[in-house]
Amino acid sequence: KRNVLIIGAGGVAQVVAHKAAQNNDVLGDIHIASRTAAKCEQIIASVREKGSLKVDGVLKAHALDARDSANVVALIRETGAQIVINVAQAFVNMPILDACIEAGVAYMDTAIHEDPAKICETPPWYGNYEWKRREAAAKAGVTAILGVGFDPGVVNAYAKLAIDDYVAEPESIDIIDINAGSHGRWFSTNFDPEINFREFTGTVYSWQNQKWQENKMFEVGQTWDMPVVGEQKAYLTGHDEVHSLSANYPKADVRFWMGFGDHYINVFTVLKNLGLLSEKPVKTAEGLEVVPLKVVKAVLPDPASLAPDYTGKTCIATLVKGKDKDGKPAEVMIYNVADHKEAYLEVGSQGISYTAGVPPVAAAMLVADGTWDVGAMKNVEELDPKPFLNLLNKIGLPTSIRDAKGERPLTF
Ligand code: NDP
Repeated sequence: KRNVLIIGAGGVAQVVAHKAAQNNDVLGDIHIASRTAAKCEQIIASVREKGSLKVDGVLKAHALDARDSANVVALIRETGAQIVINVAQAFVNMPILDACIEAGVAYMDTAIHEDPAKICETPPWYGNYEWKRREAAAKAGVTAILGVGFDPGVVNAYAKLAIDDYVAEPESIDIIDINAGSHGRWFSTNFDPEINFREFTGTVYSWQNQKWQENKMFEVGQTWDMPVVGEQKAYLTGHDEVHSLSANYPKADVRFWMGFGDHYINVFTVLKNLGLLSEKPVKTAEGLEVVPLKVVKAVLPDPASLAPDYTGKTCIATLVKGKDKDGKPAEVMIYNVADHKEAYLEVGSQGISYTAGVPPVAAAMLVADGTWDVGAMKNVEELDPKPFLNLLNKIGLPTSIRDAKGERPLTF
């Protein structure tokens, strides 16, 4: 058993807490810490209400400002946590990682560290912050698993599995993220609007012909024929997993595609062109100073409020093309389909938080039983994908494959 400290109390943390509770026979005490302790208390109330704890055990809330690494070290020591699951905003990743290295406990997160002062991080991403701590993590024997949500995370494991077992010489790795669900509102973002819009206002980087290619958001679109959710238009988007997969498989093109409807693109384009996505304050004629993006956030639905009415499915896939071990052309798509309503009934969240929150718990369970407790810093494609995907099959995110033989569930 290893005790767990979950940092952050947003949509993803809600799922992490429920899943950790459902598996607390493997994970032990569960602590949840965030800037606002009341949000941790709310999550705990929801875990208790749904009876998610598998065995009787500790479930406790803490207030924590994770910007200061010393605060995090103190809380790790106070709680006796041996695994930290960081699902706070990515602005505080580095102080939390530093704290884990200092305290000698395992670390995992689901997003690349970002400097809040920058609109968009530039190459080499993981190399800017995380990988600079690689040696320190190895020296301390600390297991640090970077980007272990769904994307990044499970899609990296899909890429590794595809290359290990089907496409020995990969020529392209395309990650396709489709949310074919409906929240029933006129317009809403699925996550914090500030974070969500930020992701789409910067340069889109993809790895093609062994170099970085730069595009604008919504400049390059393609229709994909996806399992279960059918034909879907998706756009080239910058995303974390492109940065580690391109380092690990530099000869392959690595691209990330996210599905958007025309309505979302129209609203986004109008807001952006009017200047309403700006973080710079403006003064009204009455002398009132306002930040346009904050106003937009204030009038949009709270993303957490979407969950009860969310219907439909998500399909997130890794498509790898290249040659098999005999040099013959090969192609596989490895994917998961998740259902918004089922996620809500199980853990009180929509499907997107669900797909992001279950994988770090699976990773924590593999660290707890030793399978992934490698005592070093790793991106997900550098670890054995089979035990991870096998565990995800059991705890809510089943894997399927589509190849020349058709579509079918994958077990190991
Ligand atoms: P939310 O914005 O809903 O929650 C973030 C939480 O972080 C909040 O509880 C916030 O506290 C807390 N926080 C922020 N700053 C601090 C601080 N200084 N000290 C302590 N706590 C702090 O985010 P989500 O739950 O939607 O997402 C969480 C993470 O998961 C993000 O990094 C996101 O990028 C990532 N993600 C990854 C995905 C994947 O598949 N890989 C998919 C979706 C998300 P407060 O409530 O007080 O503001």
